[in-house]
Amino acid sequence: MADRNYTEKTDPSRKPCLTAVLRMAGLRPTRQRVALAELLFGGPHRHISAEELHSEASIARVNVSLATIYNTLHQFHEAGLLREVAVDASRSYFDTDTSDHHHFYVEDEQRMIDIPADSVKFDALPKPPRGMSVTHVDVVIRVRRHQ
Ligand SMILES: [Zn+2]
Repeated sequence: MADRNYTEKTDPSRKPCLTAVLRMAGLRPTRQRVALAELLFGGPHRHISAEELHSEASIARVNVSLATIYNTLHQFHEAGLLREVAVDASRSYFDTDTSDHHHFYVEDEQRMIDIPADSVKFDALPKPPRGMSVTHVDVVIRVRRHQ
């Protein structure tokens, strides 16, 4: 299984025009949004926390507060551009790959690795509560390296 976090290959189809991508998602392409979208979507698919994006933004001289980063990530998520994967109450990752798949979470490295959707099988899922339907099932398998 390929670890897409470390794939150097860049898919040219995902390169700009990010302005158009934002517009199509119903978001006004402000300078900050475009700059953050460039950091997020300018390369291969990845998983990133708000704090990681904040430090990348500082390095790229995109001057935004952590609060703005959080807001923008949530707006991108609401618009369907990102998927949010919560690993615990205090930590979420944003995944630029919004397709159906699952994750390994490497606890001691705080890193996510993709698992293809079809390699996780369910024999029985509980029926959703009355009047509700399942939107998707997120599996996070926590792992750590042998000592
Ligand atoms: Zn993923």
